Amino acid sequence: MTTLLRGIGVGTGSVAGPVAWMAPAPALPAPRPVGDPSAEAAAVRAALAAVAADLEERATRATGTGAEVLAAQAMMAADPALAEQAATLAANGADGPHALATTFDGFRAALLAAGGYFAERAADLDDLRDRAVARLLGLPMPGLPDPGHPYVLVAEDLAPADTALLDPEQVLALVTLRGGPTSHTAILAKALGLPAVVGCADAAELANGRQVLVRGAEGVVEPDPAPEAIALAARRQRERRERTAAVHGPGRTADGHRVALLVNLGAPHELSGAAAADSEGVGLFRTEFLFLDRAQAPSLAEQTAAYREVFDAFAGRRVVVRTLDAGADKPLPFATAPDEENPALGIRGLRTAGRAPQLLETQLAAVAAAARQSGAEVWVMAPMVSVPREAAWFAARVREHGLPLAGAMVEVPAAALRAERLAEVCDFLSIGTNDLAQYTFAADRTLGSLAELLDPWQPALLDLVAATARAGGEYGRPVGVCGEAAADPALALVLVGLGVTSLSVAPSCLAEVRAALAGHTLEQCREFAESALAAVDGRAARDAVLSRL
Ligand code: PEP
Ligand code: MG
Repeated sequence: MTTLLRGIGVGTGSVAGPVAWMAPAPALPAPRPVGDPSAEAAAVRAALAAVAADLEERATRATGTGAEVLAAQAMMAADPALAEQAATLAANGADGPHALATTFDGFRAALLAAGGYFAERAADLDDLRDRAVARLLGLPMPGLPDPGHPYVLVAEDLAPADTALLDPEQVLALVTLRGGPTSHTAILAKALGLPAVVGCADAAELANGRQVLVRGAEGVVEPDPAPEAIALAARRQRERRERTAAVHGPGRTADGHRVALLVNLGAPHELSGAAAADSEGVGLFRTEFLFLDRAQAPSLAEQTAAYREVFDAFAGRRVVVRTLDAGADKPLPFATAPDEENPALGIRGLRTAGRAPQLLETQLAAVAAAARQSGAEVWVMAPMVSVPREAAWFAARVREHGLPLAGAMVEVPAAALRAERLAEVCDFLSIGTNDLAQYTFAADRTLGSLAELLDPWQPALLDLVAATARAGGEYGRPVGVCGEAAADPALALVLVGLGVTSLSVAPSCLAEVRAALAGHTLEQCREFAESALAAVDGRAARDAVLSRL
């Protein structure tokens, strides 16, 4: 019998396929003496040519933005100046990997010095260097694999930049050795509607090409699954689709209590899918994608155009824009201090506006300009609000820009505990359960080993949700949940029972949440909430509710 590999499950589906590893960047070996410099120079040229040819070939098979990015990278790799310089260094006695590293360092510095668009391409050069060095050393190509058929992507962990080119047609499921329930991998998997198991350290033993069944709901990876197990997973998937396809339209419980169902939006390639989803709008528009991997903040005009595109796609519907959430897991060179010892407890989220006030001003001006030009109902909220004074200050800035609805995210226990004071000074509240769990349990949200503490079913977290929802109710303010907790259909019922008025989830999770709501009355949701609150820990809370469903 094969041993099941256990981690933290994401998503509800199960899928089988062959493993393909995301190879790490090669470490630069110690310098070595070169016996035949002209052969070394030829090898360096050949490595660069092979990288260019490989990228060109991949570009012809990719579509859209992915094809453009790959073609641009292939052109950079084929730059004769690069090959010339690296080959000259090798001909003068440097070993191949160091000839390449020194050359790329020089080009990188030149790009950074040029600033603007050029500086933003510096990271592409690092990728090319890693590829050329890997080629020279006979190591697997770093980055996303390309086995030529659909695969289960296995990686140490995934960063947002690693996955920008991820092709949902090719990737069947994600498995990462590290990462917790609210890590980037988990969020990405939900956005793509892929089953995933994160924090699965034992997946290190899986070889390329081995068949696995990834069971997202249970957090299990089953190596060498029997054909019957694969067939059962496929049947369950089909049944789930049929069940959820039967319910449409605005969210409501079985007795008609309205709960707005919204989508989370985090990257331009998600826009068309998000807009097409049967939702009442966007509950969390993560604007960081415009700022990540940049040497400088995007201009007012560029931001206005980007926001306009989203607002136009949601004309007639709500779009809740979250202002830049820089710092901690989203560091930005122009906004974050590089030397904080505890970045998660440092100048991040709204606090960044104290350090770089112009960033927030430009962003609000761009949101306001785009909102004026479009038919969307634009709400604006700040991340990481800790005290009422910050919420009041932010609301005043938002209104100054002519934007009528200002909100605060509740992601810090202090904000939940004094939620009435927050509700008093702003128009709505939105609970970010990912960070709220992190700060409530003093547990790094990216650490898979702390998954039990980060479990969104933890009664202490639910207490804070209840306090926030109660405060919103007292002041007649909507209180949404836009963290990953809202995407769990059973937990969504508990949140509604606690008084939450909207749920914002990845588009791929909407249908199941809608179906769960339609199958239960508000009174039942309240009963589920009571049993979850009465439980001793997250697991007991989940078991208590699931046993009653
Ligand atoms: C959250 O913290 O729950 C949230 C929605 O924000 P993010 O995951 O982007 O930090
Ligand atoms: Mg957050």
